[in-house]
Amino acid sequence: MALTLKNIQSIEDFALRDKRVFLRLDLNVPMDGDQITDTTRIDAALPTIRYALDQGAKLVICSHLGRPEKGGDKSKYSLEPVGQKLGELLNVEVLVAEDPQGDAPKALLKTLRPKEIVLLENIRFAKDETENGDALARKIASYTDIYINDAFGASHRAHASIVGVPQYVKQKGIGFLMKKELEMLDRVRVNPEKPFALILGGAKVSDKMGVIESLIDKVDVMCIGGAMAYTFLEAMGTPVGKSKLEKEKVKYAAELIERIKVRKVELLLPVDHKIVKNFKDAQSIQASPTASISSDFMGVDIGPKTAKLFAEKISKMKTIFWNGPMGVFETPEYAEGTFAVAKAIAEGSAVSIVGGGDSAAAIHASGFADQVTHISTGGGASLEYLQGDQLPGVEALRR
Ligand code: AMP
Repeated sequence: MALTLKNIQSIEDFALRDKRVFLRLDLNVPMDGDQITDTTRIDAALPTIRYALDQGAKLVICSHLGRPEKGGDKSKYSLEPVGQKLGELLNVEVLVAEDPQGDAPKALLKTLRPKEIVLLENIRFAKDETENGDALARKIASYTDIYINDAFGASHRAHASIVGVPQYVKQKGIGFLMKKELEMLDRVRVNPEKPFALILGGAKVSDKMGVIESLIDKVDVMCIGGAMAYTFLEAMGTPVGKSKLEKEKVKYAAELIERIKVRKVELLLPVDHKIVKNFKDAQSIQASPTASISSDFMGVDIGPKTAKLFAEKISKMKTIFWNGPMGVFETPEYAEGTFAVAKAIAEGSAVSIVGGGDSAAAIHASGFADQVTHISTGGGASLEYLQGDQLPGVEALRR
């Protein structure tokens, strides 16, 4: 059992029959208009929903979707399409409660029949949600017998449906997804099998500083690609042309390089790149033969020599945590390096954990998603958990 789960109950510890179960999920799926473009988070939530239904629970499902602005157009943040999808996948009738702060769920639960579930509209339509207002928490608690949090991807936020509601409900616990996420991330956080590599990419050093700090004494190898690498190269005095970099983090990167050396951690930075003069002109992409980039070019991906270097290292590892793409993988011409890393991880025998967000999207796009040990459904939450922070949503459930 994950250490984090000490004194935390699970959905299996409760008798659910005829009980009103409030299930906080993370169904924050990417949308294009009213079309769901990736159902990973819905699929990941299904085992807990199915279990609760099989046990005869009366279910109220709650999630957020995006970041609806106050007074803005709410329609594009509606959970209706998600409700429809849930109905299809579970073969149930989904009754949507339009006002997540209203009394409708209580009334609906009184007459709820088998094969019916209640779905609250986007919980962020209630202003109390992000402000952790008490009124919303009390309202939800008034129709909840058992509170289950299975929203790993939202559990780093102290919002009303995450930390407020469990204050007022005696029977509370986690679902299957939360348990799996914490257990998997603990394979990296607590005594990872060695050798252990941390592979980092993406746009910002600042988002990943916490993880670097907390894992620096555990890792054997650190591979850095993506725009993040330019900040490190700049710190080493290697010209990076017009590439995206974080000026204010150059000093930190320089210090980090020294600390990594002292610890005898192997740091692999790009030795070549894929570069363009104009970001929009993907056809003009070319490889730079060396680590330096001339002044009128920008790096958009790691180069072939770097991809090979990273892949060889990856093949020797026993544990891998990967967060952040190696380049602007959303543009197919700039995705090769990211896909090469995905392939190397898939072909290797290491326990491999992929952080959520863009890295999850990248591994799916690469076609190797089913060959890694675990893809986290929470980007921010997985980074915060790995950097040693307690997740408010987990702590709110501890007895
Ligand atoms: P992050 O959220 O920090 O993991 O950043 C992910 C984003 O980094 C993705 O949207 C990538 O397009 C972007 N990214 C990766 N490499 C580069 C690069 N060389 N230049 C600009 N953006 C990049």
